[in-house]
Amino acid sequence: MAAPTEADCIFCKIVAGDIPATVVRETERTVAFRDINPQAPTHVLVIPKAHYPNAGALAAAEPELAAALLTEAAEVAAEEKIAESGYRLIFNTGAGAGQTVFHAHVHLLGGERFHEGLV
Ligand code: 5GP
Ligand code: ZN
Repeated sequence: MAAPTEADCIFCKIVAGDIPATVVRETERTVAFRDINPQAPTHVLVIPKAHYPNAGALAAAEPELAAALLTEAAEVAAEEKIAESGYRLIFNTGAGAGQTVFHAHVHLLGGERFHEGLV
């Protein structure tokens, strides 16, 4: 059973409105906001409001909510007008893979020349 929030989690604080973020879409169970350190012309993070440490844990506990991250990412891509030019979705899992915030999130990366320098 996952905790719905975690006290020292920066993304839980964004969900609660305690830390400001540039929110581009919000649903009852998800929030999408611009990454503070963008790595592409469009760089949005889509997160569940509930706290799970990573995407796998989220999918194991709430598969429909994990799927909602993907559909929300697609909606953001359409709104950002990058659906046709293409975009990349990335889930970093574990510090060794570059995960720095241990609240499940998917990176939506797109826009002109976004792929240069990325895997
Ligand atoms: P990770 O490396 O864990 O996959 O991705 C975490 C992402 O969260 C990073 O790209 C980082 O720039 C972003 N980030 C960290 N703190 C904040 C914040 O306070 N606000 C926003 N908008 N993004 C943040
Ligand atoms: Zn959290």
